[in-house]
Amino acid sequence: MADNRTFTMIKPDAVENGHIGGILDQITASGFRIVAMKLTQMTQRDAETFYAIHKERPFFGELVEFMTRGPIVAAILEKDNAVEDFRTLIGATNPEEAAEGTIRKKYAKSIGENAVHGSDSDENAQIEGAFHFAGREMF
Ligand code: ADP
Ligand code: MG
Repeated sequence: MADNRTFTMIKPDAVENGHIGGILDQITASGFRIVAMKLTQMTQRDAETFYAIHKERPFFGELVEFMTRGPIVAAILEKDNAVEDFRTLIGATNPEEAAEGTIRKKYAKSIGENAVHGSDSDENAQIEGAFHFAGREMF
Protein backbone atom coordinates (compact mmCIF):
# COMPACT_ATOMS: atom_id res chain seq x y z
CA MET A 1 0.00 0.00 0.00
CA ALA A 2 1.30 3.45 -0.88
CA ASP A 3 2.42 5.96 1.76
CA ASN A 4 -0.57 8.21 0.99
CA ARG A 5 -3.02 5.62 2.35
CA THR A 6 -4.42 4.78 5.76
CA PHE A 7 -6.68 2.08 7.16
CA THR A 8 -9.85 2.71 9.17
CA MET A 9 -12.64 0.82 10.88
CA ILE A 10 -16.02 2.19 11.89
CA LYS A 11 -16.29 0.24 15.13
CA PRO A 12 -19.31 -1.82 16.36
CA ASP A 13 -20.64 0.99 18.61
CA ALA A 14 -20.90 3.46 15.74
CA VAL A 15 -22.41 0.86 13.39
CA GLU A 16 -25.00 -0.12 16.05
CA ASN A 17 -25.92 3.52 16.59
CA GLY A 18 -26.53 4.23 12.90
CA HIS A 19 -23.49 6.43 12.28
CA ILE A 20 -21.97 4.76 9.18
CA GLY A 21 -23.36 7.39 6.83
CA GLY A 22 -22.45 10.38 9.00
CA ILE A 23 -18.90 9.18 9.53
CA LEU A 24 -18.29 8.29 5.88
CA ASP A 25 -19.70 11.67 4.86
CA GLN A 26 -17.25 13.49 7.16
CA ILE A 27 -14.36 11.35 5.91
CA THR A 28 -15.03 12.00 2.22
CA ALA A 29 -15.87 15.69 2.83
CA SER A 30 -12.41 15.97 4.45
CA GLY A 31 -10.70 14.95 1.22
CA PHE A 32 -10.18 11.20 1.71
CA ARG A 33 -10.96 8.91 -1.23
CA ILE A 34 -12.27 5.41 -0.41
CA VAL A 35 -10.13 2.85 -2.25
CA ALA A 36 -11.41 -0.27 -0.42
CA MET A 37 -14.45 -0.84 1.80
CA LYS A 38 -16.62 -3.57 3.32
CA LEU A 39 -19.03 -4.44 6.14
CA THR A 40 -17.54 -7.37 8.05
CA GLN A 41 -17.31 -8.86 11.54
CA MET A 42 -14.04 -9.72 13.25
CA THR A 43 -13.67 -13.11 14.91
CA GLN A 44 -12.02 -13.34 18.34
CA ARG A 45 -8.85 -14.53 16.63
CA ASP A 46 -8.98 -11.63 14.13
CA ALA A 47 -9.29 -9.08 16.94
CA GLU A 48 -6.55 -10.69 19.03
CA THR A 49 -4.23 -10.61 16.01
CA PHE A 50 -5.17 -7.10 14.89
CA TYR A 51 -4.64 -5.67 18.41
CA ALA A 52 -1.76 -7.99 19.41
CA ILE A 53 0.39 -4.97 20.34
CA HIS A 54 -2.04 -4.33 23.22
CA LYS A 55 -2.20 -7.91 24.54
CA GLU A 56 -0.54 -7.12 27.87
CA ARG A 57 -2.77 -4.10 28.53
CA PRO A 58 -5.51 -4.41 31.18
CA PHE A 59 -8.22 -3.49 28.66
CA PHE A 60 -7.24 -6.14 26.07
CA GLY A 61 -10.06 -8.60 26.88
CA GLU A 62 -12.65 -5.84 26.88
CA LEU A 63 -11.28 -4.50 23.57
CA VAL A 64 -11.49 -7.91 21.86
CA GLU A 65 -15.02 -8.46 23.18
CA PHE A 66 -16.11 -5.02 21.96
CA MET A 67 -14.54 -5.29 18.52
CA THR A 68 -16.13 -8.70 17.84
CA ARG A 69 -19.65 -8.01 19.10
CA GLY A 70 -21.06 -6.82 15.78
CA PRO A 71 -20.21 -5.69 12.27
CA ILE A 72 -17.64 -3.05 11.47
CA VAL A 73 -16.94 -1.07 8.30
CA ALA A 74 -13.33 -1.61 7.22
CA ALA A 75 -11.87 0.77 4.64
CA ILE A 76 -8.66 1.99 3.06
CA LEU A 77 -8.48 5.74 2.47
CA GLU A 78 -6.25 7.76 0.17
CA LYS A 79 -5.12 11.37 0.62
CA ASP A 80 -1.82 13.23 0.82
CA ASN A 81 -0.45 12.75 4.35
CA ALA A 82 -3.27 10.25 4.97
CA VAL A 83 -2.12 8.69 8.27
CA GLU A 84 -1.47 11.93 10.13
CA ASP A 85 -4.43 13.84 8.65
CA PHE A 86 -6.81 11.00 9.49
CA ARG A 87 -5.59 10.82 13.11
CA THR A 88 -6.32 14.55 13.32
CA LEU A 89 -9.79 14.05 11.84
CA ILE A 90 -10.74 11.30 14.33
CA GLY A 91 -9.33 13.04 17.43
CA ALA A 92 -7.86 11.69 20.66
CA THR A 93 -8.44 8.08 21.80
CA ASN A 94 -10.48 9.37 24.74
CA PRO A 95 -13.46 11.34 23.33
CA GLU A 96 -13.40 13.59 26.42
CA GLU A 97 -9.99 14.78 25.22
CA ALA A 98 -10.86 14.88 21.50
CA ALA A 99 -10.98 18.26 19.77
CA GLU A 100 -14.34 19.80 18.91
CA GLY A 101 -15.67 18.62 15.54
CA THR A 102 -13.57 15.44 15.41
CA ILE A 103 -15.28 12.14 14.66
CA ARG A 104 -14.61 10.74 18.12
CA LYS A 105 -15.86 13.93 19.80
CA LYS A 106 -19.10 13.65 17.82
CA TYR A 107 -19.73 9.92 17.89
CA ALA A 108 -17.70 8.20 20.65
CA LYS A 109 -19.07 7.44 24.11
CA SER A 110 -15.92 6.30 25.96
CA ILE A 111 -12.19 5.62 25.62
CA GLY A 112 -13.02 1.98 24.82
CA GLU A 113 -16.03 2.40 22.56
CA ASN A 114 -14.60 5.22 20.52
CA ALA A 115 -16.36 4.88 17.15
CA VAL A 116 -13.39 4.67 14.77
CA HIS A 117 -9.89 3.29 14.24
CA GLY A 118 -7.11 5.02 12.35
CA SER A 119 -3.66 3.58 11.63
CA ASP A 120 -0.80 5.24 13.53
CA SER A 121 1.97 4.87 10.89
CA ASP A 122 2.45 4.17 7.18
CA GLU A 123 3.86 0.77 8.11
CA ASN A 124 0.82 -0.15 10.21
CA ALA A 125 -1.55 1.22 7.55
CA GLN A 126 0.01 -1.25 5.13
CA ILE A 127 -0.20 -4.18 7.59
CA GLU A 128 -3.76 -3.39 8.68
CA GLY A 129 -5.05 -2.85 5.13
CA ALA A 130 -3.55 -6.16 4.03
CA PHE A 131 -5.07 -7.87 7.09
CA HIS A 132 -8.59 -6.98 5.90
CA PHE A 133 -8.36 -6.79 2.11
CA ALA A 134 -7.07 -8.89 -0.76
CA GLY A 135 -5.17 -7.06 -3.49
CA ARG A 136 -8.11 -7.30 -5.89
CA GLU A 137 -10.33 -5.48 -3.35
CA MET A 138 -8.08 -2.40 -3.29
CA PHE A 139 -8.57 0.18 -6.03
P1 ADP B 1 -5.97 4.57 19.16
O1 ADP B 1 -7.15 3.76 18.66
O2 ADP B 1 -6.33 6.01 19.36
O3 ADP B 1 -4.71 4.38 18.34
P2 ADP B 1 -4.73 2.84 21.16
O4 ADP B 1 -3.93 2.27 20.04
O5 ADP B 1 -4.01 3.33 22.36
O6 ADP B 1 -5.67 4.03 20.65
O7 ADP B 1 -5.78 1.76 21.68
C1 ADP B 1 -6.48 0.94 20.76
C2 ADP B 1 -7.92 0.87 21.17
O8 ADP B 1 -8.03 0.23 22.45
C3 ADP B 1 -8.61 2.22 21.39
O9 ADP B 1 -9.04 2.84 20.19
C4 ADP B 1 -9.76 1.85 22.30
O10 ADP B 1 -10.82 1.23 21.57
C5 ADP B 1 -9.10 0.80 23.19
N1 ADP B 1 -8.54 1.42 24.41
C6 ADP B 1 -7.42 2.18 24.52
N2 ADP B 1 -7.21 2.58 25.78
C7 ADP B 1 -8.21 2.04 26.52
C8 ADP B 1 -8.56 2.07 27.91
N3 ADP B 1 -7.81 2.76 28.80
N4 ADP B 1 -9.66 1.40 28.30
C9 ADP B 1 -10.43 0.71 27.43
N5 ADP B 1 -10.15 0.63 26.10
C10 ADP B 1 -9.08 1.29 25.64
MG1 MG C 1 -3.52 2.73 18.08
